[in-house]
Amino acid sequence: MNAMLDLAGIGIGPFNLSIAALADRQRLDTRFYDAKPAFDWHPGMMLPEASMQTSCLKDLVTPVDPTHPLTFLNYLVAHQRFYSFMNADQAAVSRQEFGDYLRWAAGQLHSLRFGSRVREVRFDNDRFRIRHDQGSQAAANICVGVGKQPFYPANSGRHAGARCFHAIDMQRAPRNLAGRRVTVIGGGQSGAEIVLHALQGHWGSPARISWISRRENFLPLDESPFTNEFFSPAYVDSFRQLSDCERRRTVDSQKLASDGISIDTLRALYQAIYRRVHVEGDAGAVACLPGRELTDLQGGGDFCVTTRHRQTGATEVLHSDYVILCTGFVSRLPDCLTPLAERMTLDPAGLPKLGAHFEARWDGPAERRIFMVNAGRYSHGIAEPQLSLMAWRAARVVNALLGRRVYQAEDGPGLIDWHRATAARAVA
Ligand SMILES: Cc1cc2nc3c(=O)[nH]c(=O)nc-3n(C[C@H](O)[C@H](O)[C@H](O)COP(=O)(O)OP(=O)(O)OC[C@H]3O[C@@H](n4cnc5c(N)ncnc54)[C@H](O)[C@@H]3O)c2cc1C
Repeated sequence: MNAMLDLAGIGIGPFNLSIAALADRQRLDTRFYDAKPAFDWHPGMMLPEASMQTSCLKDLVTPVDPTHPLTFLNYLVAHQRFYSFMNADQAAVSRQEFGDYLRWAAGQLHSLRFGSRVREVRFDNDRFRIRHDQGSQAAANICVGVGKQPFYPANSGRHAGARCFHAIDMQRAPRNLAGRRVTVIGGGQSGAEIVLHALQGHWGSPARISWISRRENFLPLDESPFTNEFFSPAYVDSFRQLSDCERRRTVDSQKLASDGISIDTLRALYQAIYRRVHVEGDAGAVACLPGRELTDLQGGGDFCVTTRHRQTGATEVLHSDYVILCTGFVSRLPDCLTPLAERMTLDPAGLPKLGAHFEARWDGPAERRIFMVNAGRYSHGIAEPQLSLMAWRAARVVNALLGRRVYQAEDGPGLIDWHRATAARAVA
């Protein structure tokens, strides 16, 4: 085992990658471990025409360190495509290109170790001890960045396999949906992208596509300016002052600010459906079924998909050859933290309560911290699972590690006065 690191990171998705990039510049002694053999950003959902829902300026480092060598702009310059990029005048960068940027950045950081799943983290003798596939390591602090787990509603998880799978596995195997009855469950961006891709015939031409959503319609992402204030450091700080109960209520009410469908995707979908139904005269090709909740899934080859209409209460049954679950993700404490779980303060969902610097509350020494990223939706708000504030969050973690403010992790008060934290003040 090597000498004690300042920080060991568990998982190398974009969020820990951002921390690795900032820590590297501050010469912190860090090492990050990932189970995958190389950096790869959600490869199972890398559809060629999918676009980012976030500006490319909200990259790994720019919002807090625009002179860092790992900016998206530097990636463009290094690949000699700055002027072409500008001329392309894209409303949003493709997910493929952003994924390639992340891979390029990962390739330049010496602190990353792939093919190293972290199996166990213990704390003894004043330090964390990390056991991973390539050996073990001691660290003064850890940062858990393991992402989220696919969510399987009703009893759908027990049918997971070649014909029933989560969206995150869509591109993991060759798919041939030609002549098949396909049911896509989930009315968010992933569901929309898969329905569109299927309608365009990329996996062969299905006999029928049924698209089920719990929401009352196929609803757009709210990207309007005042809503986008939710994705600002000032909003997170004001959100943190709310009570636990009010934070939960607020996050649930903000769903479309993060989980709606991009307007370009909605338009392309509507046009594709119009063409199929009215121009090509194939009225049965697509069934758009909002307002339905999956209540049961039965069968192997011929799936029986049962839904309940949320307004009328009516039960409907669909027969399907393929079921694709675009049903989102859940957070859970990774198994490797089991030895530490009893020492942490957990919320009712079994997740650690997080402080202002994304440190979990636990009974260990204050200078030994368990940072957690993408785990604080109810402590830091809806921006938590998004890329929008990743560099800002990384700056907070790095500042906390260094014990001083090397990165400016505040961004002015914002344009909205959300609420006054302390006693009422008169508005001048
Ligand atoms: C298809 C898709 C598109 C998205 N597009 C956008 C977007 O446009 N804009 C936006 O703001 N957000 C987007 N998001 C949301 C969010 O930005 C991403 O999910 C992002 O990848 C989250 O980063 P992460 O670092 O938390 O986790 P992940 O990217 O999930 O990475 C976690 C890593 O941890 C590793 N790991 C897990 N357990 C262990 C272990 N025990 N030991 C070692 N390694 C481990 C995994 O192998 C994985 O590489 C998207 C999400 C998805 C699914």
